Amino acid sequence: MFKKLPTTLNHPKTLFPIVHHRFLSTLPKFQKAQVYDRFNGPIELREIPVPIPGPNDILINVKYSGVCHTDLHVWKGEFPGAVEFPLVGGHEGVGYVVAKGSHVTNFEIGEQAGIKWINGTCLCCEMCKKGFEPNCSNAENSGLHRNGTFQEFALVKATEAPKIPDGVDLAKVAPILCAGVTVYRGLKESNVRPGEIIAINGAGGGLGSLAIQYAKAMGMEVIAVCKGLNQEEHVKRLGADHFVDVDTSEDVVKEVIEVRFFGVWRYGPTKGVL
Ligand SMILES: [Zn+2]
Ligand SMILES: [Zn+2]
Repeated sequence: MFKKLPTTLNHPKTLFPIVHHRFLSTLPKFQKAQVYDRFNGPIELREIPVPIPGPNDILINVKYSGVCHTDLHVWKGEFPGAVEFPLVGGHEGVGYVVAKGSHVTNFEIGEQAGIKWINGTCLCCEMCKKGFEPNCSNAENSGLHRNGTFQEFALVKATEAPKIPDGVDLAKVAPILCAGVTVYRGLKESNVRPGEIIAINGAGGGLGSLAIQYAKAMGMEVIAVCKGLNQEEHVKRLGADHFVDVDTSEDVVKEVIEVRFFGVWRYGPTKGVL
């Protein structure tokens, strides 16, 4: 017994890529974007068409975008696989949903949403089914396989778009969507519990600076390992409990272990290195 297929294309479960045109019709046909045509080539501000969402996409009016070092690697051509030019980089974007495909059920027009490095996953490969979507063998990346956040309107698969609550500073949210989620996931995977110690390598850098703050908010004791100069003041201002200077330390590992043993007496062994 076969179910009759819906006869109207407005049916929410239709198999056809129907966009909510009443929203899209209010959008411009063209937008400004930072575009390049070849690896290491000039990045130019141009007018390009506003993309139209596929059935599983949301279209986001990007308000803020971070710039990640990975954008530089992509521009230099250091990622394997074919890339289609012209290309728009960027993968730390946040803004408002202005159009969506007909299969999208988790976002409404006007809601705040983010764009990450992972723009879309297949949700059916072995890694996806284990909950490791970032390792999806069929993943599409923002600013690599799909035009990224250095444009006014960008597409992302709705299932990969993070919800952004109202009332937060969108400018501060943008870099969290790559640097932040990377270290947050690492801290969660480390299984370090509140009161236990974690050593954070490169703690004074972009990711490390976020990692210190997350770790402290999660109740961890932080050993900041980084290259000296003014980094001690920086990492301690962010909440680091201990500082190991790679430049001046005679034995970084020994120094971390000494801090750890100091920790044993109070809390138990160091549980993780990030
Ligand atoms: Zn990134
Ligand atoms: Zn997958």
